[in-house]
Formats: sequence, structure tokens, C-alpha cells
Amino acid sequence: MNKRSDRGSDPLRDKLIGLGERSVRKTYYPELQRRLSDLERFRVLLDAVSDAILLVDIASNRIIDLNKAACRLIGRCKPEAVRISLRDALPGETADAWGEHLSAGGEAGLPTEERFQMSMRASDGHIVPLEINLSLHYFESKRYAVAVVRDITDRKKAEDELKQAKEAAESASRTKSEFLANISHEIRTPMNGIIGMVELALLTASDVQTREYLGFIKQSGLALLNIINDILDFSKIEAGRLQLDLREFDPRHMVETTLRPLSYMAKEKDLPLRWSIDPDVPERLAGDQGRIRQVLTNVVGNAIKFTERGSVVVRVDRTEPEGLAGGESVQLLFSIRDTGIGIPADKQEKIFESFSQVGTSAHMKYGGAGLGLSISRQLVEMMGGRIWVESDPGKGSTFHFTVRLSRAAGQAVGKRVQALEKAPEASEPLSILLVEDNLINQLLAQSLLEQRGHEVVVASNGREALEKLGGRHFDCIFMDVRMPEMSGEEATGIIRSGAVKGVDPRIPIIALTAYALEGDKERLIAAGMDDYISKPIDMQELARVLSWVAQKVKKSAE
Ligand code: ADP
Repeated sequence: MNKRSDRGSDPLRDKLIGLGERSVRKTYYPELQRRLSDLERFRVLLDAVSDAILLVDIASNRIIDLNKAACRLIGRCKPEAVRISLRDALPGETADAWGEHLSAGGEAGLPTEERFQMSMRASDGHIVPLEINLSLHYFESKRYAVAVVRDITDRKKAEDELKQAKEAAESASRTKSEFLANISHEIRTPMNGIIGMVELALLTASDVQTREYLGFIKQSGLALLNIINDILDFSKIEAGRLQLDLREFDPRHMVETTLRPLSYMAKEKDLPLRWSIDPDVPERLAGDQGRIRQVLTNVVGNAIKFTERGSVVVRVDRTEPEGLAGGESVQLLFSIRDTGIGIPADKQEKIFESFSQVGTSAHMKYGGAGLGLSISRQLVEMMGGRIWVESDPGKGSTFHFTVRLSRAAGQAVGKRVQALEKAPEASEPLSILLVEDNLINQLLAQSLLEQRGHEVVVASNGREALEKLGGRHFDCIFMDVRMPEMSGEEATGIIRSGAVKGVDPRIPIIALTAYALEGDKERLIAAGMDDYISKPIDMQELARVLSWVAQKVKKSAE
């Protein structure tokens, strides 16, 4: 290969060969001048760039050219910096890393471009984080690399600050959520006491006026409890502590028992509340029915709240979830249509955000904390569904939400089950040890149990319970969890270990909890408890548990 062809063809050079000096000057001087000023402009441009730019001959690993920023980076200036090897120009480990990238790029063929980050000790000794863009080029029959090197100290600092700020904000948010969860949990206990006592008073009060006042206290107490529950749920979701409780359930029974109490509420406003369930909805499904109830109650409650005339209609359909071929998954679509005040188009997305309300005077007069729909959205999303609204302001709204559930094992589809699952009451009187430290809750649970004809002995903590158990026979124990001196879990552990003389270690133990925080239920069962009832005590739940105990007692007597 001769030298000329080696360097490629240049029309100007070809023309100059063989010409005398005069003609060169006359004819080609202006052209040369133009080329020189082009080069100069190009140099000014390169030197004005704040990134360091180096041209490296890959075969010899030497710097061929560089701009001013590159001179600053390697601490040497031209012409000294030109033709020195990368190894002499850069700290050892930096040169090695560049070398690796260069040879990898060279082997992979041309053209190629690569971006990577690394730190380098600068000529003044301090460590500089760099972002390097290496591109490989081929000209003059040689392979070259152009390295564009950017000092990313400021960017890194900003990224680190952002990361720290994010971590601090997340930790503050977690602390806030945990505080909220704890405080609302604490508020629930006395609230349950107040509502329970009012319920007891309602059972005995005969004076109409007193009953009316008590009814108001109960309604206000329940409203307050709802807000506290919302705050508790919201903070638990925010703190990532909310878990679904997946069990088998009857969807028709769930819808029926959720909507019936709401229909009484609607009746007070002269609003009919109607519902229908698609016959295709399976008889039994598996999922968190409590959370579906919560969403349904919130959306239907809103529909009643924001409607003065007309009706509220609920439909439950079975729909096929996209991308899922039948199988074990079933998707239910709930549609709740009202003829109320409606929601302006620009607010129809916003209302699903926390603390968000429509804010018009028509909406404001109904009150509320603006948390219900945000919680509902998070809950349905946890259940693999979504929630949305279609609304015509002044005419009404239709809220839709879907949830994805599993088909319960071995269940037929299409049969309508209308009968409510009424738990049978325990027929035989039971002797019950009630372990509860809070005086009001003691009185409340004791009255509820005694009204059903059971015999109740009270202990105010785990230690006292163990003493009382030793003294006589009991059919079952209702055990509070958090108690001074000895907790319910500790006492259960001792009973289950068989360490209490004369007591059957398998005696039914039912936990009484103010609210099942995440993991509580699993913890209680793991501690050896058989079941739990949450406070305030739900009559149906109580009946279910008592009937289970009665059956157990009967079986062990046979
Ligand atoms: P709130 O406790 O304030 O009702 P939600 O999150 O449940 O909180 O609802 C947020 C807002 O969405 C309500 O304050 C109301 O402005 C609007 N909204 C919800 N449901 C309806 C409805 N069915 N009709 C009209 N407005 C509604």
C-alpha cells in the first residue's frame, strides 16, 4: 500500500503537486487561508466546550489531540500533552479502565459508542466523578477513540442530596403514618366503650326522649368511629402495613348484609336503594370480603349522601378480566348509580386522591374528610381491580369498581342463594372466663354474655386469669390481648403448655381485640388462640363464636 493512497485522496493536494510557487500563491493561497481559518474556528469551538475532549490513537494508545478542558483534566498542556500515552496522562487505574473499554470496543468492530461513569484522581489530588462517552472512529486507515469526559461532581451531589431528601421524607412519612395508626388505635378503645355503653343503655331505657338522646350519641359515636377507622386505614396503607385477609365467602350474602343497613339509611331520605346480582356470580368466592364491604359501603354511602331525590341502584356483574382465561380468577364489577348532584368533569379523577373533595358549596354542605374514595381506590387496586366514575353534574353519577377474586374450591356457578347465614345461638349456658382490663369493656362484654344466659367470671389481666382458671372449670375464655402485668398472648402460651394445673390445655380461647392491626390475627393464632372477636363486639360474631364453643363442649362431653 503506497503512502498516498494510505492517506486517502485530497483534491487540493493533488492539484498542488507539480505547480510552481507563484501559481500556488496566486491560485491556491486563498483556499489555504480559508482552510486555516476553518481550523482556527474549529479550535476555538473545541476549547470553549466545558467537557474534556481527547482524540486517542487506539493502536499506540497515545493522545493525538485534546481541548483546553482536557488539558485541565490531565494537568498538562499542549504541545507537551500531545503524543503522550494514556498511561502517562492518566492515573494508572483510570488508564486501565479506559484501555479495557477501548479494546472491547475495538474487538466488537466499528463504529461503536459507549458511556460509563468512573471516578478519577485529578492532577490536584482530589477525586472527581466523571461520565465518559467513548466513541470509536476510523480514518486515515487508523482507529481512533474520541473521549468526551464530563465532570459530574455537581450532578452527583444533587443526586445524593435528592436521595437523602427522599429518604428523610419517606422516613418522616412512615413515622407520621405509624403515629396516626397508633393514635387512632388508642382512640378506638374508649370510643368502643362509649358506643357499647350507649347500646346497653338503649336496651334498658324506656323513656322516649332518653332513647332519642342515646340514639344521637350512638350515631355521632359511630360517625366518629368511621372517621377514625378511615384515618387508621389510610395510615396503614401509607405505611405499607395493610394486608388482605383472604377467606372463602358468599358474595350474595356479603352484598345483602352490606346493603340492607344502608337501605335503612336511604329510607330516612325517602330514597329507594335497590340491588341486583348477576346469576353468573359464583356462590362462593375467596377474597377479602371485609375490604369489599368497606369499598361498597363507602361508595353507596356517598351515593345516598349526595342524592336528595330519585334512587340509588347497585348492580354486581361478573366480567372477564382481560388476559385471563377463566381459570381460578373471577372478576366482579360493582356499579353504583345515583340521581344526585353529580361531579364536575375536572374533578372526576381528583376525588380519588386523599383529602380531595369537589369543594363546591353543594358538595361542602355534606361534610366528610375526603379519605373514603382514596382508601377505596387503594383497596381495589390491592385486590387487582380499579375504580372510576362517570357523572353528569346535576343529574347523577355512576361509580364502578372491579375486584379480582379466586373461585372457592369445588363450587357450582349460577345458583342463587338468598338465605342469610344466620349463626345459630348457643343453646346451653356456658361458663365463661372473661379476661379484660378495661372496666367499661368488662361491663359491656359481661352484660352481653349474661343477657344470653351465660355465666361470666371476670379477671382483669393474664395473671389473674391463670389464678381463676386453677380454681374452677370454665367452658371457654374470652381474652383481651393488651393487658398490664400479663398479656393475653402470654397467658394463652402458659395455658396451652399445660402448665396450669387442672385446666385442659385445649380449652377454647377467643381473643378480644380493639382492631386487628397487620399481623395481629396471625400472631394471635400463632400464640395459640382459636379465634378472635374485634371490639366493638358484633352480635352476630359473638353468636357465631358462642355456638362454635357450645358445639365443642358438646362433642367433648360425648
Ligand atoms: P368524603 O368523606 O368527603 O365523602 P370521599 O373520598 O368518599 O370523601 O369523597 C370525596 C368527594 O367526592 C366527596 O367529598 C364529594 O365531593 C365527591 N363525591 C363522592 N361520591 C359522590 C357522589 N355519589 N355524588 C357526588 N359527589 C360525590
